[in-house]
Amino acid sequence: MKENLNPFAIAQAQLDEAAAVLQLDPDMHAFLREPTREFHFSIPVRMDDSRTRTFRGFRVQYNDARGPAKGGIRFHPDETIDTVRALAAWMTWKTAVADVPLGGGKGGVICNPREMSQGELERLSRGYMRAIARYVGLTKDVPAPDVNTNPQIMSWMLDEYETLMGHREPGVITGKPLPLGGSAGRTPATAMGGLFTIRETARLLDLGLEGATCAIQGYGNVGSHAHEIAHNMFGMKVVAVSDEFGGVYHANGLEPEVVSGHLWQAGKVSNCPDTESITNQELLELDVDILIPAAIENQLTSQNADRVKARIVAELANGPTTPEADNILNDKGVYIIPDFLCNAGGVIVSYFEMVQNAYQYYWDAKLINERLDQKMTTAFHAVHNMSRSKKVDTRVAAYLVAVNRVAEAVRLRGWV
Ligand code: NAD
Repeated sequence: MKENLNPFAIAQAQLDEAAAVLQLDPDMHAFLREPTREFHFSIPVRMDDSRTRTFRGFRVQYNDARGPAKGGIRFHPDETIDTVRALAAWMTWKTAVADVPLGGGKGGVICNPREMSQGELERLSRGYMRAIARYVGLTKDVPAPDVNTNPQIMSWMLDEYETLMGHREPGVITGKPLPLGGSAGRTPATAMGGLFTIRETARLLDLGLEGATCAIQGYGNVGSHAHEIAHNMFGMKVVAVSDEFGGVYHANGLEPEVVSGHLWQAGKVSNCPDTESITNQELLELDVDILIPAAIENQLTSQNADRVKARIVAELANGPTTPEADNILNDKGVYIIPDFLCNAGGVIVSYFEMVQNAYQYYWDAKLINERLDQKMTTAFHAVHNMSRSKKVDTRVAAYLVAVNRVAEAVRLRGWV
């Protein structure tokens, strides 16, 4: 049978597995399998050549039992409603496992930002916010950046929202630049949180991180910061990194400043000076201690999982591993730090951003990182202990922790 790579089918299959272990009430299970609410809309955008192009946009509010929906907005040519649904489901489990008082949501637009000018991107971002403004807000649903969206795009969206509503409400969106109410430490937060979980895993496996080898797929916000933090804070040897155009390798390790400098000039990591070229497939199969998928979904599949040599797979990307690959990796004894635990750092600092916006008083990066460390470490051990006590793999364990918490809120509200 062909492997099902539909991300929402995968998200539902993962929930089904957890529901079976939890012996979840069938009515609750049925409720948690589907998004509570979703919006599909067209965004007409005046392009630079004065023609109007219509883009399709989505916002999914998967579950808001524990608090307002929370989740990023992606701009991607291959965006689909099922990808957005899956990511919104994972946000629900992520905010629950991180134990922040938020639900799960996600948004997306089918577009190719690489082919758009800054002006076109601004008009698209404002159009997206106009389409969802009535349905988002501090107490309803709070968007953030994700693939191909950034603090500038958040600024345009914030401005559009506040212009429409006639008041300042910085907490409507997170991942903002600092002058507009952003939080210190937000940009590297996802990578930082992931590295804290890698540190905890390494302790459990008795693996010293100083000099430990690492490969990182994806060199955007998450991948590039993971490189910097792994190298500068933990002394790890990052031997390979990649982006959608291919990767680079050096057995003695890659300097983050050199790769970032090259990427800045060349627009891709390939051909970075003093490195060998490597494909994305080769990178995933390298003989390293730690593999960090930090790009897109479905990178570790039944086709390549048996060739993965890493001891730890730290899923900073969302959905990088298919269920078949999961089984193969678990059978090989690989320690998987599942996505919605590993990459929860972004949403945790987004939550800190909302808190700071609400009381109009701002914390410094040191305090943010201490509080992030505390939340990530607590979440990591809740999942690890669940995995030990129930004798299930770490992904199922993360689901058990998260689904229990969401189901409890749903039950207390009397929805099911
Ligand atoms: P980004 O757009 O900044 O970077 C994405 C990177 O992945 C780029 O280097 C791109 O070239 C690369 N890429 C795209 N397609 C690829 C392919 N087929 N093969 C190899 N590389 C490819 O995005 P980001 O914010 O760094 O997000 C990366 C992942 O982390 C996504 O799965 C996202 O959902 C997840 N994530 C991001 C955040 C956040 O705070 N930004 C939070 C949680 C999870």
